[in-house]
Amino acid sequence: MTGDVSGTETVATRLTPQDIERELGDNGGSNADAVGMPLGPWKIDGFKWFSSATDSEMSVLLARTAKGGLSAFYMPMRRLVGNRDTRNDAIYGDVTPSTELNGVRIQRLKNKLGTKSLPTAELELKGARAWLIGTEGQGVKEISAILNITRLHTAVSSAANWARGLAISRAYSKVRKVRGGLLQDNPAHLRWMADETVKYWASTHFAFLGVALQGALEQGWEAAVRNTGASQLIPQDKAQTADLLRLLLPVMKAQVSVASVHGLRNCMECLGGVGYCENNEDGGLMNVAKVYRDQLVNPIWEGTISVMAEDCVRVILDKRLGDSDVLANVFAPWVRHVLEVVGAELQMEAEFIEERLQRLLDVARGATKEELLYNGRDVLKSIETITSGLVLLYDATTSPDPIALKAAQRYIRSKSPNVTTQISRDGLEGAVADDKSIFLGSSNLQPSVSSKL
Ligand SMILES: Cc1cc2nc3c(=O)[nH]c(=O)nc-3n(C[C@H](O)[C@H](O)[C@H](O)COP(=O)(O)OP(=O)(O)OC[C@H]3O[C@@H](n4cnc5c(N)ncnc54)[C@H](O)[C@@H]3O)c2cc1C
Repeated sequence: MTGDVSGTETVATRLTPQDIERELGDNGGSNADAVGMPLGPWKIDGFKWFSSATDSEMSVLLARTAKGGLSAFYMPMRRLVGNRDTRNDAIYGDVTPSTELNGVRIQRLKNKLGTKSLPTAELELKGARAWLIGTEGQGVKEISAILNITRLHTAVSSAANWARGLAISRAYSKVRKVRGGLLQDNPAHLRWMADETVKYWASTHFAFLGVALQGALEQGWEAAVRNTGASQLIPQDKAQTADLLRLLLPVMKAQVSVASVHGLRNCMECLGGVGYCENNEDGGLMNVAKVYRDQLVNPIWEGTISVMAEDCVRVILDKRLGDSDVLANVFAPWVRHVLEVVGAELQMEAEFIEERLQRLLDVARGATKEELLYNGRDVLKSIETITSGLVLLYDATTSPDPIALKAAQRYIRSKSPNVTTQISRDGLEGAVADDKSIFLGSSNLQPSVSSKL
């Protein structure tokens, strides 16, 4: 979902008790779902062009009602054949009752580039019974909670796919010999892979910032954040946390997903020709090509990058958020608060973040909606750079891992104009040692620290 849903052709009709009696006659007497719970009083008819996880037990969908507008519905995928209450079957040891699809016909499976283990299908709905969720006509609003969670999942799973690709790259670099030496000792290879690892760190920190904000919202700051290393990073004020997450979610969904696509392409190249092959000999553990194929959908489903950019602009212009200016009143104070915590050795990098923040505020101030939409992808990139840079600087300040400092500095350098060389003050040898520790991890760290590399 989250393409343009306004043209939805699926219709929901409220049934009267008499209608339900008639329906029971028509469909063989079934008024209960697969676990014996009553089916809802709404009848859904229509067509769903894209429906994933068709083998799931339930679905949440949007449909148009007579009142107008879209409403959200909960629809069990299966119903009992006949009208038996099965709730006590497990206790009394009865046999599994027969079930059938709840007014759903699977027309055909989509022939997809990846995610083939997830059945995505075209569904025809005819007399499917469902329950209304929330207020009639407010479906898009009701479903937005799910959209936010799925966007967070998309960002985190994108980071996870990328982590797997880099793990495969590290394993391969330790065994493949080129020019008489292992890849793990080749300076050019290490430089490239260290750069990739830093990009992965930036995206992963960004995605897990989203998880931390969501956790703080659900469980409260006292329970979820106090006494953790994130206490200076996550706002104590719940409204501020909610507004910040609302702004950052479309950005992380778009930017982490697409960064992971590019990252996984590099991981494939890291393995040379082997990376382009479907390596299934070991059960697919090393099949980075499949991870790449599966990752390609993440920037598309749950809304494309342009749709996320549009959503981000909507948040920026929403007068109900952050005292009518979420960038100036929520995002900027949060960034500046975190920058105050950043260690003295990172002052240059902190100044870079402040400068990028100021530039974003200047662009947004006074811009028309049309201008912001036109620059939507730049706005996404700008918020991503500021936020990823900020969390990396925070990590470098609070983490005992010396690589965290190097990764933060390197990320900011990569975003700075006029940087042509990355050779450190210690010369080439020092730079290669840094690359190696960023890509392969540092052996002289506590296991708790090195395990996160
Ligand atoms: C494998 C897979 C599984 C899916 N599973 C489900 C599912 O279970 N349930 C479900 O409801 N949906 C599902 N979808 C649908 C998916 O959410 C949409 O395909 C996706 O959101 C893109 O919408 P669309 O296909 O309508 O593309 P469109 O919105 O038509 O996009 C076409 C182009 O228009 C651009 N565009 C669209 N809007 C704007 C805008 N406002 N400004 C600028 N450019 C714009 C897009 O960026 C894109 O380049 C699935 C899709 C796939 C590929």
